[in-house]
Amino acid sequence: MFVTFLLSTMCPPTGQQTEQRHGDNESNDERMGPFPWSLGAIDAHCHPTDTMSSIASINEMRTRVLTIMSTRSQDQDLVLSVAAQQAVQNQTAFTEHSPEKVVPAFGWHPWFSHQLYDDTGDETTYDPNQDAEEQKTKHYTTVLSHTPDPEFIATLAAPRPLSGFIDETRRRLVSFPTALVGEIGLDRGFRLPQGWGPDEQPQRNEDITPGGREGRLLSPYHVNMTHQVQVFKAQLRLAGDLGRAVSIHGVQAHGVLFDALSSLWKGHEKEVISRRKERLVAVGAEDFSSSDEDDDDGGGASVKELGPFQPKPFPPRVCLHSFSGPPQMLKQYLNPTIPARVFFSFSMVVNLSSPGSETKFADVIRACPDDRLLVESDLHTAGHEADKMLEQIYRQVCKYKGWTLAIGLEKIRKNYVEFIFG
Ligand SMILES: [Zn+2]
Repeated sequence: MFVTFLLSTMCPPTGQQTEQRHGDNESNDERMGPFPWSLGAIDAHCHPTDTMSSIASINEMRTRVLTIMSTRSQDQDLVLSVAAQQAVQNQTAFTEHSPEKVVPAFGWHPWFSHQLYDDTGDETTYDPNQDAEEQKTKHYTTVLSHTPDPEFIATLAAPRPLSGFIDETRRRLVSFPTALVGEIGLDRGFRLPQGWGPDEQPQRNEDITPGGREGRLLSPYHVNMTHQVQVFKAQLRLAGDLGRAVSIHGVQAHGVLFDALSSLWKGHEKEVISRRKERLVAVGAEDFSSSDEDDDDGGGASVKELGPFQPKPFPPRVCLHSFSGPPQMLKQYLNPTIPARVFFSFSMVVNLSSPGSETKFADVIRACPDDRLLVESDLHTAGHEADKMLEQIYRQVCKYKGWTLAIGLEKIRKNYVEFIFG
């Protein structure tokens, strides 16, 4: 989730930079030629339900498919309602002009993780059978860093049970066979916004779905990592149980995020056979247990294929959205023993938002395997601006991959089909 006007202090607003980038990229754009929209451009992560008045424009958009995230209590039903009208049912939507343009994602974002209490284990921070005010204070005092003062707690709603959210999300995933789990994740950088002042709320923009920051000052409080991990892992397990993909947000939490995922696939790692071993098996010449290269987990290794889908404790396909780690971190997720297929998605608003970001972006794009790459707008509105941002990120990726636009669109569409359908 990147927010230009709602929630984030992590990234600067996009408007100005977008214009600047268009100038910078003019010659590159001319060289690459007009954008081949007819080949099917796909947005792997966006939030148009934050501006419901823009939803009608999805039909007129040139983007073929939008993957629409939910994040908090206020947008779950909105994503559901858009999905009910326009959800993609099968792969034909990716290749032909179709009124089905939406792949819905149901999930709870780490910025709102304090609004859930974990009732899935032996202990809970909130007991609905006890005094509500007392329990609310107990919950927020436990899950927020620093002890929040009573005035701040008063601005927060009573938390809802994680189990109830997981049950609801399970039902929604089952009713939309292409739906994924998202946006979920971990974030060490964010802080909760202050409550609305008495004069502020009447002035808020009614076009924007509530629950976001909307320019409010930030409090000193953030959600502790233990709680974020509990909420994150419960959703990862749900995705694993239903064989669905997940779209993941990770900010200043790369190590703990990798640890959370690996803790779920521990014991399910894939056996890796080195190429040398394969050759030896092929000629039947040698006892391959003697090879020193058996532990090779780098390139040059191949992997046993997974069998048909069975419920697992981890999601089978993962997208690290607006991936901002260095190439080295990307390689960590490509270890062939990892039993999930990890994709990396990139956006203009996060990956190319600051001066000097281009070198880092170029390095990571070149390091990203061609078959693991996705692109996204991460915008909070549908329409022309979202098309424009998606076109720009396609152009940037193709530039550093050395692809024509036609090749780039084709490869990324193929990757996306694999991400959704397995
Ligand atoms: Zn997002």
